[in-house]
Amino acid sequence: MSSIIVPTGQHHLPMLPYALTALEPVISSRLLQIHHEQHHKAYVEGLNKAELKLSEARQKRDFSLIKHWERELAFHGSGHILHSIYWTSMAPIGNRWETPGAQTIKYIMSYFGSLAVFWEQFNNAAINVEASGWALLVWQPAWGRLEILTIEKHQDLYQAGSIPILVMDVWEHAYYLDYQNKRKDYVTAWVQLINWSEVERRLMMAMQAQMPLNVGP
Ligand code: MN
Repeated sequence: MSSIIVPTGQHHLPMLPYALTALEPVISSRLLQIHHEQHHKAYVEGLNKAELKLSEARQKRDFSLIKHWERELAFHGSGHILHSIYWTSMAPIGNRWETPGAQTIKYIMSYFGSLAVFWEQFNNAAINVEASGWALLVWQPAWGRLEILTIEKHQDLYQAGSIPILVMDVWEHAYYLDYQNKRKDYVTAWVQLINWSEVERRLMMAMQAQMPLNVGP
Protein backbone atom coordinates (compact mmCIF):
# COMPACT_ATOMS: atom_id res chain seq x y z
CA MET A 1 0.00 0.00 0.00
CA SER A 2 1.32 3.41 -0.90
CA SER A 3 0.40 6.64 0.82
CA ILE A 4 -0.17 10.01 -0.81
CA ILE A 5 2.79 12.28 -0.16
CA VAL A 6 1.29 15.48 -1.57
CA PRO A 7 -2.50 15.92 -1.49
CA THR A 8 -4.25 17.46 -4.52
CA GLY A 9 -3.30 21.10 -5.06
CA GLN A 10 -1.01 21.30 -2.02
CA HIS A 11 2.46 21.52 -3.48
CA HIS A 12 4.81 23.94 -1.73
CA LEU A 13 7.83 25.89 -2.90
CA PRO A 14 10.77 24.12 -1.23
CA MET A 15 13.21 26.33 0.66
CA LEU A 16 16.64 26.73 -0.87
CA PRO A 17 19.08 24.45 0.99
CA TYR A 18 21.60 27.34 1.28
CA ALA A 19 21.75 31.13 1.57
CA LEU A 20 21.05 33.30 -1.48
CA THR A 21 24.69 34.35 -1.59
CA ALA A 22 26.02 30.78 -1.19
CA LEU A 23 26.54 30.11 -4.89
CA GLU A 24 28.38 33.34 -5.70
CA PRO A 25 30.26 34.15 -7.82
CA VAL A 26 28.90 31.47 -10.19
CA ILE A 27 25.27 32.45 -9.55
CA SER A 28 24.49 35.84 -7.98
CA SER A 29 22.04 36.21 -5.10
CA ARG A 30 19.76 38.40 -7.23
CA LEU A 31 19.54 35.79 -9.99
CA LEU A 32 18.99 32.98 -7.48
CA GLN A 33 16.26 34.94 -5.70
CA ILE A 34 14.31 35.74 -8.88
CA HIS A 35 14.72 32.20 -10.16
CA HIS A 36 13.50 30.64 -6.91
CA GLU A 37 10.90 33.10 -5.62
CA GLN A 38 9.38 34.02 -8.96
CA HIS A 39 9.98 31.37 -11.59
CA HIS A 40 9.86 28.26 -9.40
CA LYS A 41 6.98 29.66 -7.31
CA ALA A 42 4.94 30.22 -10.48
CA TYR A 43 5.34 26.54 -11.38
CA VAL A 44 4.15 25.45 -7.92
CA GLU A 45 1.10 27.73 -8.15
CA GLY A 46 0.36 26.62 -11.71
CA LEU A 47 0.58 22.95 -10.73
CA ASN A 48 -1.76 23.42 -7.76
CA LYS A 49 -4.25 25.26 -9.95
CA ALA A 50 -4.18 22.57 -12.66
CA GLU A 51 -4.73 19.81 -10.09
CA LEU A 52 -7.62 21.64 -8.45
CA LYS A 53 -9.23 22.44 -11.80
CA LEU A 54 -8.98 18.79 -12.81
CA SER A 55 -10.46 17.73 -9.48
CA GLU A 56 -13.34 20.13 -10.14
CA ALA A 57 -13.75 18.70 -13.64
CA ARG A 58 -14.00 15.18 -12.21
CA GLN A 59 -16.68 16.28 -9.76
CA LYS A 60 -18.68 18.02 -12.48
CA ARG A 61 -17.94 15.27 -15.00
CA ASP A 62 -17.01 18.08 -17.38
CA PHE A 63 -13.82 17.37 -19.31
CA SER A 64 -14.29 19.98 -22.02
CA LEU A 65 -11.02 21.74 -21.03
CA ILE A 66 -9.02 18.56 -20.49
CA LYS A 67 -6.45 19.37 -23.18
CA HIS A 68 -5.59 22.69 -21.57
CA TRP A 69 -5.30 21.33 -18.01
CA GLU A 70 -3.26 18.30 -19.07
CA ARG A 71 -0.77 20.69 -20.69
CA GLU A 72 -0.69 22.84 -17.57
CA LEU A 73 -0.21 19.74 -15.41
CA ALA A 74 2.81 18.65 -17.48
CA PHE A 75 4.32 22.14 -17.85
CA HIS A 76 4.06 23.20 -14.20
CA GLY A 77 4.58 19.70 -12.78
CA SER A 78 7.83 19.24 -14.68
CA GLY A 79 8.88 22.78 -13.80
CA HIS A 80 8.33 22.13 -10.09
CA ILE A 81 10.12 18.77 -10.04
CA LEU A 82 13.09 19.80 -12.18
CA HIS A 83 13.68 23.04 -10.25
CA SER A 84 13.50 21.17 -6.94
CA ILE A 85 16.23 18.78 -8.13
CA TYR A 86 18.19 21.63 -9.72
CA TRP A 87 18.55 23.43 -6.35
CA THR A 88 19.87 20.28 -4.72
CA SER A 89 22.17 19.55 -7.67
CA MET A 90 24.25 22.52 -6.50
CA ALA A 91 25.93 23.25 -3.18
CA PRO A 92 28.40 25.86 -1.89
CA ILE A 93 32.10 25.13 -1.46
CA GLY A 94 32.77 23.25 1.78
CA ASN A 95 29.33 21.72 1.77
CA ARG A 96 29.67 19.24 -1.06
CA TRP A 97 31.77 16.43 -2.45
CA GLU A 98 34.20 17.80 -5.02
CA THR A 99 34.21 14.52 -6.96
CA PRO A 100 31.60 11.87 -7.79
CA GLY A 101 30.82 9.21 -5.18
CA ALA A 102 31.70 5.53 -5.53
CA GLN A 103 28.53 4.40 -7.34
CA THR A 104 28.33 7.52 -9.51
CA ILE A 105 31.92 7.25 -10.73
CA LYS A 106 31.54 3.49 -11.28
CA TYR A 107 28.56 3.99 -13.59
CA ILE A 108 30.09 7.06 -15.27
CA MET A 109 33.27 5.12 -16.05
CA SER A 110 31.52 1.98 -17.26
CA TYR A 111 29.30 3.87 -19.71
CA PHE A 112 31.09 7.09 -20.68
CA GLY A 113 34.61 5.74 -20.37
CA SER A 114 36.04 8.64 -18.37
CA LEU A 115 34.92 11.61 -16.30
CA ALA A 116 36.44 13.97 -18.89
CA VAL A 117 34.46 12.45 -21.77
CA PHE A 118 31.30 12.47 -19.63
CA TRP A 119 31.76 16.20 -19.00
CA GLU A 120 32.49 16.92 -22.63
CA GLN A 121 29.23 15.26 -23.65
CA PHE A 122 27.24 16.88 -20.81
CA ASN A 123 28.57 20.38 -21.57
CA ASN A 124 27.95 20.05 -25.28
CA ALA A 125 24.46 18.71 -24.64
CA ALA A 126 23.64 21.63 -22.29
CA ILE A 127 25.12 24.31 -24.55
CA ASN A 128 23.26 22.99 -27.58
CA VAL A 129 19.76 22.66 -26.12
CA GLU A 130 17.63 24.67 -28.55
CA ALA A 131 16.12 27.72 -26.77
CA SER A 132 14.87 26.88 -23.24
CA GLY A 133 15.48 23.55 -21.58
CA TRP A 134 17.50 21.29 -19.36
CA ALA A 135 20.46 18.95 -19.32
CA LEU A 136 20.07 15.89 -17.13
CA LEU A 137 22.01 12.94 -15.88
CA VAL A 138 19.45 10.18 -15.50
CA TRP A 139 19.27 6.62 -14.27
CA GLN A 140 17.34 4.49 -16.72
CA PRO A 141 16.00 1.48 -14.80
CA ALA A 142 15.07 -0.30 -18.04
CA TRP A 143 18.73 -0.29 -19.20
CA GLY A 144 20.33 -0.42 -15.77
CA ARG A 145 22.68 2.45 -16.55
CA LEU A 146 23.16 6.20 -16.64
CA GLU A 147 22.38 8.44 -19.61
CA ILE A 148 22.70 12.13 -20.47
CA LEU A 149 19.45 13.58 -21.78
CA THR A 150 18.25 17.04 -22.71
CA ILE A 151 14.73 18.43 -22.61
CA GLU A 152 13.53 21.27 -24.81
CA LYS A 153 11.16 23.45 -22.82
CA HIS A 154 9.99 20.86 -20.29
CA GLN A 155 6.40 20.01 -20.89
CA ASP A 156 7.24 17.32 -23.41
CA LEU A 157 8.09 13.77 -22.50
CA TYR A 158 11.68 12.72 -22.58
CA GLN A 159 12.98 9.16 -22.29
CA ALA A 160 10.15 7.46 -20.46
CA GLY A 161 10.93 6.11 -17.03
CA SER A 162 14.38 7.63 -16.65
CA ILE A 163 15.07 9.16 -13.26
CA PRO A 164 16.97 12.48 -13.08
CA ILE A 165 19.85 12.41 -10.61
CA LEU A 166 21.55 15.67 -11.67
CA VAL A 167 19.70 18.54 -13.26
CA MET A 168 21.01 21.67 -14.95
CA ASP A 169 18.66 24.53 -15.85
CA VAL A 170 19.49 26.12 -19.21
CA TRP A 171 16.42 28.32 -19.55
CA GLU A 172 17.57 31.91 -20.10
CA HIS A 173 16.08 32.92 -16.72
CA ALA A 174 18.64 30.60 -15.06
CA TYR A 175 21.63 32.62 -16.27
CA TYR A 176 20.72 35.74 -18.23
CA LEU A 177 21.10 38.20 -15.36
CA ASP A 178 24.68 37.04 -14.68
CA TYR A 179 25.82 35.73 -18.05
CA GLN A 180 23.52 37.43 -20.60
CA ASN A 181 23.55 35.37 -23.79
CA LYS A 182 26.74 33.50 -22.88
CA ARG A 183 25.24 30.16 -21.99
CA LYS A 184 28.58 28.48 -22.55
CA ASP A 185 30.14 30.53 -19.73
CA TYR A 186 27.29 29.61 -17.36
CA VAL A 187 27.52 25.91 -18.25
CA THR A 188 31.28 25.89 -17.75
CA ALA A 189 31.09 27.75 -14.43
CA TRP A 190 28.12 25.75 -13.13
CA VAL A 191 30.18 22.57 -12.94
CA GLN A 192 31.96 24.09 -9.91
CA LEU A 193 28.70 23.97 -7.94
CA ILE A 194 27.84 20.31 -8.37
CA ASN A 195 26.72 18.59 -5.21
CA TRP A 196 28.15 15.10 -5.75
CA SER A 197 26.93 13.66 -2.44
CA GLU A 198 23.36 14.46 -3.50
CA VAL A 199 23.97 12.92 -6.94
CA GLU A 200 25.21 9.76 -5.21
CA ARG A 201 22.19 9.73 -2.87
CA ARG A 202 19.75 10.13 -5.77
CA LEU A 203 21.55 7.44 -7.79
CA MET A 204 21.31 4.96 -4.88
CA MET A 205 17.58 5.64 -4.59
CA ALA A 206 17.00 5.53 -8.35
CA MET A 207 18.78 2.18 -8.62
CA GLN A 208 16.04 0.68 -6.43
CA ALA A 209 13.51 1.37 -9.20
CA GLN A 210 12.69 -1.47 -11.54
CA MET A 211 11.23 -1.30 -15.01
CA PRO A 212 11.44 -4.69 -16.71
CA LEU A 213 10.57 -4.58 -20.41
CA ASN A 214 9.54 -8.19 -20.69
CA VAL A 215 6.49 -9.83 -19.19
CA GLY A 216 7.08 -10.77 -15.57
CA PRO A 217 6.94 -14.34 -14.24
MN1 MN B 1 14.50 27.67 -14.21
